[in-house]
Amino acid sequence: MKYVLITALLIIILLGLFTCPQRQPLQPQEGYQVVRVVDGDTFICNVAGEDSRVRLIGIDTPESVHPNKEVEHFGLEASDFLKQLLKGQSVLLDYDQANSASNHKDRYGRILAYAYRASDSLFINAEIIRQGYGHAYTRYPFRHLEEFLKYERDARMQGVGLWAEMEDTPPTVADSVIVYFSGKGKKFHRENCRYTTDKSIPIPRSEAISKGMEPCKVCKP
Ligand SMILES: [Zn+2]
Repeated sequence: MKYVLITALLIIILLGLFTCPQRQPLQPQEGYQVVRVVDGDTFICNVAGEDSRVRLIGIDTPESVHPNKEVEHFGLEASDFLKQLLKGQSVLLDYDQANSASNHKDRYGRILAYAYRASDSLFINAEIIRQGYGHAYTRYPFRHLEEFLKYERDARMQGVGLWAEMEDTPPTVADSVIVYFSGKGKKFHRENCRYTTDKSIPIPRSEAISKGMEPCKVCKP
């Protein structure tokens, strides 16, 4: 009898673990079929018979279809790159603890996820940054942040994708890059850093350095 009780208890605990909403939802082993790519960091896949929009975590690619913005330079290339990666493919989704409070959705109702190509386990979010088709998005914390920043630095160094177009610019480019600071404090940031606000002031990086300011440790501008 005691044995039965313990077994029952174990089953309840295990069920609890697997159905806990904080954890990632169960997904078919073969993954979710990709329906179409929306832009460089968003695609639609079929989840339980419904088209669901997925926004890839931790990357920022140039806009290509935003209704209120002009097509940004490179936006179409980024979008084509994702199409090339995902056309006719299925993906497995993984989630980040950082988004569990919003049930892994953003304010537009898109699923926030890391995507892995089912056929070969290619880590899609990472691949976009590695090939230079997007930046690491540092405004919000996520568990692959350090890794993505490293891929971005490598892609810049190798001059691939988006970074290839900067080939002809002089090596001092890093100094003329625009950075942002809040007006107080000693740190300066990238535009998409979580510490950059609408009130932040843009200045050239070289000017920030000459004023004795230091690069933020989170966004590493
Ligand atoms: Zn920063």
